[in-house]
Amino acid sequence: MVTAVITHEDCLAHETPPGHPERPARLVAVQESLNSVEFQCLTRIEAPAAATAALVRAHSQALLDLILKDAARRAATGGFVGIDADTVMSAGSAQAALRAAGAVIRAVDGAMAGEFANAFCAVRPPGHHAERDRAMGFCLFNSIAVGALHARAVHRLLKVAVVDFDVHHGNGTQDIFYADPNLFYASSHQSPLYPGTGFASERGVAGNILNVALPPGAGSAEFGTTYSNTILPALERFAPQFIFISAGFDAHRDDPLADMQLDESDFAWATAEICKVAARVCGGRVVSALEGGYDLDALARCASAHVRALMEA
Ligand SMILES: [Zn+2]
Repeated sequence: MVTAVITHEDCLAHETPPGHPERPARLVAVQESLNSVEFQCLTRIEAPAAATAALVRAHSQALLDLILKDAARRAATGGFVGIDADTVMSAGSAQAALRAAGAVIRAVDGAMAGEFANAFCAVRPPGHHAERDRAMGFCLFNSIAVGALHARAVHRLLKVAVVDFDVHHGNGTQDIFYADPNLFYASSHQSPLYPGTGFASERGVAGNILNVALPPGAGSAEFGTTYSNTILPALERFAPQFIFISAGFDAHRDDPLADMQLDESDFAWATAEICKVAARVCGGRVVSALEGGYDLDALARCASAHVRALMEA
């Protein structure tokens, strides 16, 4: 079966101030890399906008009101509206965030219907720092969590899992998943680093959170060991009915925001290994969404390698 790429031009309309690393050119680089000949067989789908009913499964009404009404109204008049120290909204941001979450929902629906085997959501803003009540860290809505909770509510799945290899800890996904034993979140990330969470002692109500912090300078060997010995066995033991990937590529050696030393082959390997678990436990159902990755050339190579691994799964 085929792999789908789900994106929307509206995701380019989320603008950030000059010099901000989370910029529209990131998504342009990813989209261009996926236009090469080897990717012609991908199923390409335009992301719908997420409905409020889907967003409220992961977020409070107060956060929805802030992003979709209060801040959106102020941003519509031009200029940037600050959400936190490094998170801003422009006139196009609310729509971009709705498309980003909508992409993951569409990916879930397509995978459940057998329309495609797996899917990559090429979207921004990223999502994994967005908590139930708080947008932060370049993130407005937690798209992967919205998709995971959609899979449970609409497709009647019980156990779903998110694996997050972004170099930053996904505090938002952890927050949303923490109290539900049937939601599993596993993260590898650099520590110390923003946002300062993600210690092994943060385990969820039923051991359903798994954090592996890696030191600055960690590379392929540490990353491989983390997945082979810890994250992949725990994922398989949890036996989810659907696996999501928070696909951030900022643990690449060229990334300016962190100090890990991975290259694109490490992301391809991790993707392939996650897909092998998925083939054994959940019919191969895997949906990934772009999180970080701030060196444009490295990001393009990593996204290509990631999608190639999904296609070969
Ligand atoms: Zn990141």
